[in-house]
Amino acid sequence: MPHVAPTQTQHHYPYDLSVVLPVYNEVDNIGLVHDELADVLGGLDLRYEIIYVDDGSRDGTTARIIELCEAHPDVVRGVLLRRNFGQTAAIQAGIDHANGAVIALMDADLQNDPHDIPLMLDQMDTEGYDLVSGWRKNRQDKALSRKLPSHIANGLIARVTGVHLHDYGCTLKTYRREVLDHVRLYGEMHRFIPVLANAAGARIVERVVNHRARIHGKSKYGLWRTIKVVLDLMTVKFLTSYNTRPMYIFGGAGFILSMFSGLSVLVMLLSGIFAGDILWNSPWPIFAGIFAALAGQSILMGLMMEMLMRTYYESQGKGPYAIRQVINAHKHVATPVVETMIDAAG
Ligand code: UDP
Ligand code: MG
Repeated sequence: MPHVAPTQTQHHYPYDLSVVLPVYNEVDNIGLVHDELADVLGGLDLRYEIIYVDDGSRDGTTARIIELCEAHPDVVRGVLLRRNFGQTAAIQAGIDHANGAVIALMDADLQNDPHDIPLMLDQMDTEGYDLVSGWRKNRQDKALSRKLPSHIANGLIARVTGVHLHDYGCTLKTYRREVLDHVRLYGEMHRFIPVLANAAGARIVERVVNHRARIHGKSKYGLWRTIKVVLDLMTVKFLTSYNTRPMYIFGGAGFILSMFSGLSVLVMLLSGIFAGDILWNSPWPIFAGIFAALAGQSILMGLMMEMLMRTYYESQGKGPYAIRQVINAHKHVATPVVETMIDAAG
């Protein structure tokens, strides 16, 4: 029986572990998923809860989830959404109802293997990680429509964000609660939690996990998701890299554009001086005008973003930094992310 050491922040939370599963039309899987998961968790020495988020299923999954809640009222929770909001929204709903010090996310289609969870928890505890990210090294999905686009997307994400993981898309990951507390998920963004967490200073590690082919039900995704992921990547890159200084990008672009405008004017002037033709009937005056207008726009946009960014942080009580630990000091200012508060005297 594997023993999992208590997590650092255990005393704050009623559970050591919350397992959150988004569920959409998995009627033939949900019972089997539950049996396997409960079997694994029951063998661990920890307080846990399982949260099924029904994402507007229409195949009878909802009734199965209600049955599970009734059969195991002390460990199973159901969050039933009004309609299908998508996997990321379902995950966020589950996180919002979780009370564990550690949250594990996994799919409810039997493709993830719950036996990986204790190994991941162990790694968090013994090595002090805040996030263990599953890597489906031996992924059992269609090669051309799923694995290839995902491989390309993963490479791109790693390059753009500088967070080097092989498999952002793997739902099976374990998170210290604090990592998720200040992350709000939109679009397809659950796969970018490691990037957002990294920006907040979390310690992240990757771990190879088991992956199985889907037997019951159908995958809900195709190629379109990869495109959404790439669009979300731009948002995440902006949020993590330029969030606190949008004026540097927009103002920078404005600066370059006004140089282009100036250059166009220079071409006209030189031509006027040396060739006696100021080029009114050429594209140069148009270039000068367009670049000047775009430069003005960019700078105004940068100023607007600066204001938005302040609202963004202040409305959430966030700040432009994240604290790992505070020693012998008490809160004087709003601290956005405090992982552990240690009073060395106490
Ligand atoms: N899912 C969901 N809402 C959706 C689509 C999917 O909650 O709109 C759930 C689904 O039931 C499964 C997980 O998200 O538990 C992953 O979905 P799927 O297996 O279709 O994705 P794939 O493994 O093919 O990437
Ligand atoms: Mg799946």
